[in-house]
Amino acid sequence: MLKILMKKSEKKACKVCGKLYPRDFLSHRGLCPDCAMRNMRQAILQLKRKRGPYYEKWLRNVMRARKRGGKNE
Ligand SMILES: [Zn+2]
Repeated sequence: MLKILMKKSEKKACKVCGKLYPRDFLSHRGLCPDCAMRNMRQAILQLKRKRGPYYEKWLRNVMRARKRGGKNE
């Protein structure tokens, strides 16, 4: 039981800011809540402006999804 608790409080560094957080706090990409939130805000901003790496990635995903599901056209 004690071992499980110790494992749960194990800390990991955020990939972006390098701060240590309990493992459970980090996203699956290794980002802390602050950085994950900042990333999301950036992504939304780029989608609005229609430019930037997030927008391009999103566009590629949309294109790929359209190609895959384009049977009705
Ligand atoms: Zn961070």
